[in-house]
Amino acid sequence: MSEDCIFCGIVAGDIPGRTVYEDEDVLAFLDANPLAPGHTLVIPKAHHERLNDMDDGLAGSVLGTLNALVPVVEDAVDAPATTVAFNNGPEAGQEVPHVHGHIVPRFEGDGGGPIHTVAG
Ligand code: C5P
Repeated sequence: MSEDCIFCGIVAGDIPGRTVYEDEDVLAFLDANPLAPGHTLVIPKAHHERLNDMDDGLAGSVLGTLNALVPVVEDAVDAPATTVAFNNGPEAGQEVPHVHGHIVPRFEGDGGGPIHTVAG
């Protein structure tokens, strides 16, 4: 838990979040400023800034949850595809310094382009 971290605040219930999935180690919630309907973030509950700050077990839990949620999100909004991305460090567009994977539903002709132009 990091005092001034928005996502730690969501984990603690101090900041509202629309939970999609939760277990002991991982939380998934709808992005507050979605790039598309159903845009979901998957985070470790523990505060880690970058992917490599997590141990392999936690990284596996985050990635496993993300992988399991992709078809759930696609079904929920009837999306034929998703862009899945981690911005890892501020220069890569990471605005919230708490690891989070984006699941962004994609639709034919949505104009979003490939990964580097979607979740920046
Ligand atoms: O990868 P990046 O750090 O840029 O993404 C942060 C994401 O967190 C944004 O998509 C933003 O909409 C989301 N966010 C949120 N709830 C907040 C603050 C940010 O869903 N309270």
